[in-house]
Amino acid sequence: MHNNTRKLRRSARLLFPKTTLDPSVIDQIVEEGFCDVCVTFVEMEQMFTDQGFNLEQAEQLAQMAQERGLTLTAFVSYMKYQHPLLAREPQRAMLVCDPLDINNRSLKTSDMLCPFQPDNKQRYLDLLGKITKLPALREVHLNDEASLSIRNCIGCYCPHCANQFEKLTGSPPPRTCNWSDSLWITWLENRMQSWIDVHAEFRDHIKNTLPSIAVGIKHGPRPAAMSFNPWKEAISLAHEAECFDVLALNPYHFTHIHIADFRPHRRIVSEVTRTLVGACLDCDSNVYPQGFMPPGVSTPLNQTGWSVGRNRPLCTWC
Ligand SMILES: [Zn+2]
Repeated sequence: MHNNTRKLRRSARLLFPKTTLDPSVIDQIVEEGFCDVCVTFVEMEQMFTDQGFNLEQAEQLAQMAQERGLTLTAFVSYMKYQHPLLAREPQRAMLVCDPLDINNRSLKTSDMLCPFQPDNKQRYLDLLGKITKLPALREVHLNDEASLSIRNCIGCYCPHCANQFEKLTGSPPPRTCNWSDSLWITWLENRMQSWIDVHAEFRDHIKNTLPSIAVGIKHGPRPAAMSFNPWKEAISLAHEAECFDVLALNPYHFTHIHIADFRPHRRIVSEVTRTLVGACLDCDSNVYPQGFMPPGVSTPLNQTGWSVGRNRPLCTWC
């Protein structure tokens, strides 16, 4: 029986350690009634625009959170933000093609890590092992904002993934969208199942150490906003709801205006929440509506969302 009891937790999502890794800020978060702090983990070499916490910073934050009775939710990047690693070892990237482009179906190297190559998986498992040692840990969300689609292209066609598919079917993965071709359907189903399987492996790695930790995945708004077809992203929210304890989305005002077609754009929060909760059924759902545009303040036409967030400490949590 589904438990319809509504549970609301207030989570302060911290983006900029230079501003927020400060006991007085954590005290303020407690005073404002929050019960969790959330951080995105990035390795030092991945950091950009000062966003994200490395492991050392996260340990300091987790300690401060525990001392004040707050819990910690961790968003752990995997495929994203790997530019330095991919510059050194480009063979670790996800390879993609546009199956709807009749003029060009050549493979392109993406700026995302292939999530299925054994070396990439092991590297991520090692990071997850370190994160499970943090105090006050409540939730871990895997593979921040990732999918198997980059713009109009889909993946992964890297040699490892192509070999795996060929072992299974006797054929290399098709690059042409053909809804009458059973191999094309098998390829799409295989991508969705592989997505679930690899994240279930990461989930089990955490749960084997810390069974009480909730493990989920946090997407950008695209899967619940239906901005891309699910077969491109290889994301089935219904399958993920069966696999994880919790699913999450981060519909941002202002910076996601090009992703979601809802108008007025502020509807993005209600629309994607409705879709996510509908898909989740017995699975918990978290929605992190990042502000960037505080109530009563007009969207500055000459600034990007990142600069608004960076210059306005009030917007660094929501
Ligand atoms: Zn691959």
